[in-house]
Amino acid sequence: MKIAFYGAAGTVTGSCFLVKTENTNFLVDCGMFQGSKELKERNYDKFLFNPEEIDFVLLTHAHVDHCGLIPKLYKFGFQGPVYATKATSELCAVVLPDSAHIQEMEVERKNRKNLRSGRPLLEPIYTVMDAEACLDKFKGVSYEEMIEVSPGIKVVFQDAGHVLGSAIIEICITEDGIEKKIVFTGDLGNINQPILDDPTNIKKTDVLVMESTYGNRYHFNADNKLEELASVIKATMKKGGNLIVPSFAVERTQDLIYELKVLLDEGKIPSVNIYVDSPMAIEATQVFINNHEFCTDERFAKVCGLEGKKCFEEFKNLHYALSVEDSMALNRLKGGAIIISASGMADAGRIKHHLKHNLWRQESTILFVGYQAQGTLGRRILEGEKKVRIHGEEVAVKADIVKIEGFSAHADQKGLVEWVKAFNEKPKEIFLVHGEEAALDNLQRVIAGEVGIQARIPEIGSQYDLSQESLSKVATFEQLSHVQIKPELNEAFIAIKEQLEDIAKMPGKDTRTLQRLLAQVNEIEREIGKVG
Ligand SMILES: [Zn+2]
Repeated sequence: MKIAFYGAAGTVTGSCFLVKTENTNFLVDCGMFQGSKELKERNYDKFLFNPEEIDFVLLTHAHVDHCGLIPKLYKFGFQGPVYATKATSELCAVVLPDSAHIQEMEVERKNRKNLRSGRPLLEPIYTVMDAEACLDKFKGVSYEEMIEVSPGIKVVFQDAGHVLGSAIIEICITEDGIEKKIVFTGDLGNINQPILDDPTNIKKTDVLVMESTYGNRYHFNADNKLEELASVIKATMKKGGNLIVPSFAVERTQDLIYELKVLLDEGKIPSVNIYVDSPMAIEATQVFINNHEFCTDERFAKVCGLEGKKCFEEFKNLHYALSVEDSMALNRLKGGAIIISASGMADAGRIKHHLKHNLWRQESTILFVGYQAQGTLGRRILEGEKKVRIHGEEVAVKADIVKIEGFSAHADQKGLVEWVKAFNEKPKEIFLVHGEEAALDNLQRVIAGEVGIQARIPEIGSQYDLSQESLSKVATFEQLSHVQIKPELNEAFIAIKEQLEDIAKMPGKDTRTLQRLLAQVNEIEREIGKVG
């Protein structure tokens, strides 16, 4: 039984883990890399495994960095089912075609330039058609339901409290009569969220693969986030500008709508118009309403409700901008509006228009309520850049830039450590993934100190053998991970190394020669990496 880390290793995005047993290969998540140009380019690389050999996918939740490459997996030959909760499946039906649409638009724009300059034309990673084609492979599962996905492999999805339908996945694998359990946290949510339940505590596991997004951060003042939000709104309205909120279409937007309703009802903010300008956020809101049994407050469906794409009577201040005309009309608003728009990291979608129209105005405020990955427009604004480029135009940053931490859908360091401490039996091995370097290192140190486990930080492309008592690293293909290299070749390297290691264990073998051969294999790997 082996595990390979093909994404979200040493970085936040691109979650993709391959588990191989004797007879079965499956993925946990198949997400897109987001952030810097270099990271995004990886989405175009060939998979480092053969998609035709993947039997099924277990999907933790509907964020693009976890599900965004599933259509590409299909495109390259994957035929199996994708197991996810019902809400995740429904959200993917919104998120994946949207992701395809963004790529098609981007490629179209780039190709116009390529055509003029005589460069070869690009192809989108996948099209809307690819995205829609893979949706009927999704199999909706319920929380806490044990399902045997393959002989000897049983899985249970548990509520991760991160976004609607998000799951921690418990996997029990029986091989040669021995049962091993692996738990993937997916993304872990905060406790005391407005709509969702707290993340489920797990009793025991042999191996834990754990997210680390905020491994080095504390959500200070999480309890005061509503007061902070109210004061930002009041200050912006006093200045006479707009409040622009880049927000993830799934969960953050619905949380915000709900919280704004609470503030209005309690008279803590003036009666202000709230515009949700993101077709995807609006469709996602509909999925929330369809799955309102997962929402902790029954009022949710009424507050955020859509009836024939219109909001309910209960919340007259709320407006959903669906059409392009509705969206463009918002560009003409000089003040008095809260505009919630996607993408959450401001690197695509309608939010860029709102930033272009408000960033340069002192009277407006840009409010960040979520994680901003390195290299994104959101991160650059947040880090204080004075000028940014939007749609090829230079825009001065004069608006107030504010961040409220408490809205994060991710547990902070304390939340993560408390969650690990809640195991009845300590995990034998912990792999830290889904974090930037500082977060991973910090969380590793704190877990060592407070839980007494030396967690591992796997490199991208690394593979571990889980069947042995003491865990061993099989191979690292870090140097190969960015290049277009055939998956069979990767497999061949692993096979050669395994065989050499096996031969080395036989009595009377010339280990010196074998060591030399192994070094040569490593050298070839490195050289191919350089050539690529
Ligand atoms: Zn997530």
